[in-house]
Amino acid sequence: MHELSVAMNMIEMAESACVEQGYSRVEAVSIRVGRASGIMRDALVFAFDCAKAGTLAADARLDIEDVPVGGACNDCHAEFSVEEAFVFNCPACGGKSFQITSGQELHIVELEVDS
Ligand SMILES: [Zn+2]
Repeated sequence: MHELSVAMNMIEMAESACVEQGYSRVEAVSIRVGRASGIMRDALVFAFDCAKAGTLAADARLDIEDVPVGGACNDCHAEFSVEEAFVFNCPACGGKSFQITSGQELHIVELEVDS
C-alpha cells in the first residue's frame, strides 16, 4: 500500500522537525494532497493512524487539504481547474496540448507541535 509509506515518511519528517525545534510532541500535521497525486484520502488517513502509533505524533491529527487538478492550455492559454483526477482536453477549447500546473502535489504544509 503506497499510502502507508507516504504516511510513514510524513511522520518521520514531522518527528525530526519536532525534535530539531526542541519540541516533544506533534499535535497536528497539515498536508496538501493533489487529486492527481494518486493518493486515496481515506487510505492515507488510515495509514497515518497506523503509522503514528508509538511515535512523537501518536496523538497527532491529520489535516488534509484537497487540491484540484489545474492546468494551462498551450493553445488558447486558458488556465483551468477540473473536478476529475485526470484532464484529457482543455475545458475551454478542447485542445490536447496543455500543462498540468497543480493537483500532483503531496507535501506537508504545516506542523503543530507542543513541548
Ligand atoms: Zn485551450
